[in-house]
Amino acid sequence: MTVHDKIALTADDLQGDISRHLKLSIGKDASHASLHDWRMALSLALRDRVVEPWFASTRKTYDGKHKRVYYLSMEFLIGRLIEDVTINLQVEDMAVEAMKALGQDYYEVVKEEPDAALGNGGLGRLAACFMDSLATLAIPAYGYGIRYEHGLFEQHFENGQQTETAEGWLAQSHVWEFERPEVAYKIHFGGYVSEENGKANWNPSETVLASAYDTPVVGWQAKWANTLRLWAAKPIKLFDLESFNRGDYVGANAPERLARTISRVLYPDDTTTEGKELRLKQEYFFTSASIKDLLRRHDYEGYDIRDLHDHVAIQLNDTHPAIAGPELIRLLVDKHDFSFDEAIDMARKCLGYTNHTLLPEALEKWPADLFARILPRHYRIIEIIQDRHIAATGSDIRIIEHGNVKMGELAFIMAHSVNGVSALHSDLVKETVFHDLNAAYPNRILNQTNGITPRRWLYSCNPALRGLITDTIGTGWESDLERLTDLNAHLDDASFQEAYRAAKSTNKDRLAAWLQERSDVTLDTSAMFDIQIKRIHEYKRQHLNILETIALWNDIRDNPNGNWTPRVKIFGGKAAPGYALAKSIIRLINDVAATINNDPITREFLQVVYPENYNVSMAEILIPASDLSEQISTAGKEASGTGNMKLSLNGSPTIGTLDGANVEIREHVGAENFFLFGLTAAEATEKRKDHGYSRRAIESSPKLSRVLGQIAGGVFSNGDHHRYSDILHNLYEHDYFLVSCDFDNYFAKQREVDAVYQDVTRWTRMAAANTAGMGWFSSDRTIRGYADDIWGAKSVE
Ligand SMILES: *Cc1c(COP(=O)(O)O)cnc(C)c1O
Repeated sequence: MTVHDKIALTADDLQGDISRHLKLSIGKDASHASLHDWRMALSLALRDRVVEPWFASTRKTYDGKHKRVYYLSMEFLIGRLIEDVTINLQVEDMAVEAMKALGQDYYEVVKEEPDAALGNGGLGRLAACFMDSLATLAIPAYGYGIRYEHGLFEQHFENGQQTETAEGWLAQSHVWEFERPEVAYKIHFGGYVSEENGKANWNPSETVLASAYDTPVVGWQAKWANTLRLWAAKPIKLFDLESFNRGDYVGANAPERLARTISRVLYPDDTTTEGKELRLKQEYFFTSASIKDLLRRHDYEGYDIRDLHDHVAIQLNDTHPAIAGPELIRLLVDKHDFSFDEAIDMARKCLGYTNHTLLPEALEKWPADLFARILPRHYRIIEIIQDRHIAATGSDIRIIEHGNVKMGELAFIMAHSVNGVSALHSDLVKETVFHDLNAAYPNRILNQTNGITPRRWLYSCNPALRGLITDTIGTGWESDLERLTDLNAHLDDASFQEAYRAAKSTNKDRLAAWLQERSDVTLDTSAMFDIQIKRIHEYKRQHLNILETIALWNDIRDNPNGNWTPRVKIFGGKAAPGYALAKSIIRLINDVAATINNDPITREFLQVVYPENYNVSMAEILIPASDLSEQISTAGKEASGTGNMKLSLNGSPTIGTLDGANVEIREHVGAENFFLFGLTAAEATEKRKDHGYSRRAIESSPKLSRVLGQIAGGVFSNGDHHRYSDILHNLYEHDYFLVSCDFDNYFAKQREVDAVYQDVTRWTRMAAANTAGMGWFSSDRTIRGYADDIWGAKSVE
């Protein structure tokens, strides 16, 4: 049975459904419908076809008594959904045809959909890829998160500087979701704990409702569909009529305003934690609702609460939902008569924790007094967890220490499995942040190297390469990505190479047309497209890239008749609004772009562009068009990276450090197809002991000294000598991220890249070898790893 039989669909059916929804659901006549109306109608017609597989999956899970996976994540960086669904249902051609018959351009309609940007970057995008793979593998699963009213802010540049405005994806209705007003839980905060008949009784001072919204997530070829359940905060009392009657109209709305604040906005910072009360409330809000929901389902199905671990696996995506441990213990002890030991044991059997960072400033901790005020019962439970942990292991690691509640330690102690997200990162987790806990709980730390869904990050975003792959090795690779190794037999085949270049060229033209339309910038598509797209952070070292750009500009100016390889350097990424140095780096990139792009001497060799507001949709245009992937983080600081995987899969070799998943990418695509440079993680640690290293590195590098001198001299800031004193001061005096130490090595490696790029055959082979070698990085492989090693969950097939 084909997927089309299964969902009973022809282009005519789809066209009929779209027309019917336009009229009956949207209330518009075709002659007056806007692009937005057409998009709504198309989405609803597609959604209809997801419902059957969705119901069938729920039924099979229930009937087969299958274990369910609950993936708790503060962020889901989803992007647009129309193409996700048409691709997984395999109805893209039909949708194009149906829209055409209705006088509409499918691709224009698709572009009208706003990104669901409920995440900051890699961590949230990982959760979205995992949802796709869980459905593709037919593993019964729920994603649980927050239905933020405002996703990640929109980024603008004013005079080269980042400004932010609120994002508003829910200003229009989100057609993919189903509201579930009957699924609502009371979530409490504050108050005090009393004792009645030897039982603790939490008397909270504040209560909000967590109300469910479900989005079906359909897998490849509609074999299975899971649910993404997002919680919205609502008041238990909608409106204060008493205040209204007194004439206090503002006060009358107070309960609603207060409650809704909790799911109002995504925190826009993924690398520091601020210890803000609202953030703690958000974390408890969605975690508590999710735990209550899964317990209700367990009970509804008639299972014994003592068998919870046989039916439930809960995965914590970072520490944001780490309160799940204490919350589950609270409910088991206070409502289900478990002893503390029994409850701790049960919670641990259910919980897994994924660590995403070693950066100390990103490890969540809460002031103990704030925590105890917001969650008094949980605070007491954490003290008990800590006591039992110390008694059982003799460890001197505490969860509550120096007036803080440390969420990493809590998550670790409460999980039966803790995993890092790349081989190097998992090793460093054992050696550094959780060194002592690893000794107290040997074998608890595992590795599950991240992955990306090939449906979105190749099949959907790169139709040109998709077609070539299928023509060359047939179908089947979409859900068995390691089959891409079959391409290896064709790497030296001249006609394959030519077709590979043609696909890349199509994608570069598409990017150029997009940029022309968006910002009236013209790109030289014969130049190398050198791309660095990711959040702006010191450890990711966009400043290393822009300093190298300036040095290259100097060299070209010194020798304009040299054999230069034309490059377009493309940057994309947002800085957290409060991260001053990251914002300076953005401004520097824009200032350098303005100077270099207007230089008639270098113009034909070097161009710098930085389109504003990088998001998933932009990534889908940039990645297929990339020739060179910049993955230049300070070794030991990038946990895995997934942007590196997307780019390499799409035929863009990496220039990178031995960091995160770069290490494994290099192993899989072959060292000869990867441009390695820089200090290793161990060398970086050694280097930092070497007092005055940055000043020495700068002084011994004529190129770097010259570049820093130009910045200080105001070459890129209209003569303003102070605009970049923060960056310069940092580089000379601290340079914790070792930009100065890696500079010369990076510059030299870039010149090697230039030389190889001029050898078209060699470069094409390298790019195609990247595609061929990246199959292992499918998130399907990652999810199989979690299912086997951590969840004990099975595919229902
Ligand atoms: C993949 C992705 C990321 C993660 O990129 P890294 O290079 O791994 O940091 C961030 N943002 C978006 C929009 C992505 O698609």
